[in-house]
Amino acid sequence: MNKDEIKYQRRRDEMIRDQIEKRGITDQSVLEAMRKVPRHMFVSEALMDQAYGDFPLPIGEQQTISQPYIVAEMTQALSLCSDDRVLEIGTGSGYQAAILAAIAYRVYTIERKHSLLVKTRQLFDKLQYHNIVTRYSDGTSGWKEESPFNAIIVTAGSPKIPATLVDQLAVGGRLVMPVGDQHSQELIKLVKDQNGITTTSLGGCRFVKLVGEHGWRE
Ligand code: SAH
Repeated sequence: MNKDEIKYQRRRDEMIRDQIEKRGITDQSVLEAMRKVPRHMFVSEALMDQAYGDFPLPIGEQQTISQPYIVAEMTQALSLCSDDRVLEIGTGSGYQAAILAAIAYRVYTIERKHSLLVKTRQLFDKLQYHNIVTRYSDGTSGWKEESPFNAIIVTAGSPKIPATLVDQLAVGGRLVMPVGDQHSQELIKLVKDQNGITTTSLGGCRFVKLVGEHGWRE
C-alpha cells in the first residue's frame, strides 16, 4: 500500500467504528464490504478528502452519493447472501453497487442520467468489479429480462413502491427503498413470501427524487 492508501484505509476503519458500528450495524458482511471498498474513488478528486465524512456528497447532475451510514443500513436490511442477484435503481456514483457486489453474486444497476453512468462504468472497469452489470434506462420499470431478483434496492425517493419492482422480486426476496414526498421519506423494507407481502419502516431519510414512469414525473 502507498501512503494515500494507508491514509484512506485508516479513515475507512474510523468510519466503520464511529459511524457504522456505533449506530448498531452488526452484519459482518456489510462491515467487511465497507472496510474494503475505496469510497474516495467514487467522488471527484476535489472531494476525496471528505469521502469518509458522516454526510452525503455531490456527484454532479444535482445527484448525491449517500451518507455511509445510510448505505450500511440499506444493505443490512437486504439480508444478502453470496449467491443473491440484486437489482439497484439509481447507480449514481456506483458506491452502493460496489458494496452490494462485494457481498452478493451479481448486481444489476440502472441509471437514467447518461453522463453519470458513463463515468461510473469506467470506474467499475478500473476497479475490476466484474459482477456489476449496468443499464441506461428508467429503472422504475425494473429489468424484466433478468428478473426475478433476490433483492431490490432503490436509492432515490418515490411517492410509492412501484408495483413493477414488486413483481420482479423472487419469492423470499427483499426490497428496500425510500418512500414519501420530495422533502422527506421513510425507508421501507418489503418482504415477499408465499403468504404475500409484508412492509416495515426503518425510519426517516432524505433522498433525491426517483424520476420516471412509476416514480415522480419530470
Ligand atoms: N446509489 C447511488 C446514489 C445516487 S443518487 C450512489 O451510491 O452513489 C440517486 C440516483 O438515482 C441518481 O444518480 C439519479 O439520476 C438516479 N435516478 C433517479 N431516478 C431514476 C430512475 N427512474 N431510474 C434510474 N435511475 C434513477
